[in-house]
Amino acid sequence: SKRAGAGRHHWYSADLDDQAGDEGRLIDDLRTALDTGQLRVAYQPIVTLPDGALVAVEALIRWHHPERGPISPAVFIPLAEQTGIIHEVGAWVLRTACAQAGAWRASSVDVAPRRVSVNVSARQLADPGFAELVASVLTETGLFPYELVVEVTETAVFGGGQAVRTVKRLHELGVRIALDDFGTGHSSLGLLQTVPVDILKVDKSFVDHITTEGRQAVIASALIQVSQGLGLEAVAEGVETADQADELYRLGYRLAQGYLFGRPVEADEVLPARGSLR
Ligand code: C2E
Ligand code: CA
Ligand code: CA
Ligand code: CA
Repeated sequence: SKRAGAGRHHWYSADLDDQAGDEGRLIDDLRTALDTGQLRVAYQPIVTLPDGALVAVEALIRWHHPERGPISPAVFIPLAEQTGIIHEVGAWVLRTACAQAGAWRASSVDVAPRRVSVNVSARQLADPGFAELVASVLTETGLFPYELVVEVTETAVFGGGQAVRTVKRLHELGVRIALDDFGTGHSSLGLLQTVPVDILKVDKSFVDHITTEGRQAVIASALIQVSQGLGLEAVAEGVETADQADELYRLGYRLAQGYLFGRPVEADEVLPARGSLR
């Protein structure tokens, strides 16, 4: 197996099918995980600049495998998509996150996030029943549509068809639409003409070297200008340093997310943002 880790003594190795077998096992384990409560949802703060006030959270799935330890969603979400189990996993994340957001609102803690952002995969958007699933989860949990943000990637909506119809239907319901990893796809600007979008999530790759590479600052500046011109919100992703936050603020960014302000944590650990700006 190419994956090292605890408890893998029972895996076969030096086998051509090793990786496929490994992935097959992981998918079986994911089904079990869903049924036995191994999955959790972590929440990462989205804050205002420059004051760092908590306005929203992004829901991020977490899986602690009983033998292999934590497994990154970057590993198991693509597998879940390939096999279709993403429909069940995604519905579980949606229900959990909406119920949590409802609980925060009911808690009357004035620092509670006002919105929850949920990642939705290509395969979910391609499901003609997905918008109605969202509508029923909102009803079940008592969440208002505008308290939910659905994060979609450019690749998921590229090519039109059912995915775009789903996004349009969600938007009609009043759910906010965020374009995730904005700027990394093939048709970032083109999509803004065909898909109703409320929020641009400017990818971490445009933030990483913003203080040292003039070209990155130029691109980050162009992206915030596009968002302002179109009346969209923009969230800068992956902000890790106060220098980056200062520069983003200078360029016009008013919303940010990243380790500077808080890592993804359990619901009961979501506190006012700890990051501070100069
Ligand atoms: P994403 O939607 O772009 O989420 C942001 C990722 O960046 C998260 O990784 C988050 O923990 C990480 N991150 C946030 N701030 C920082 C920072 O300052 N520095 C660095 N280095 N990283 C930061 P995570 O939780 O491992 O998720 C990875 C990807 O897996 C997500 O990328 C998303 O594409 C997918 N994913 C996670 N949860 C779900 C889910 O419930 N459904 C679906 N369909 N996809 C999910
Ligand atoms: Ca996201
Ligand atoms: Ca992202
Ligand atoms: Ca990403």
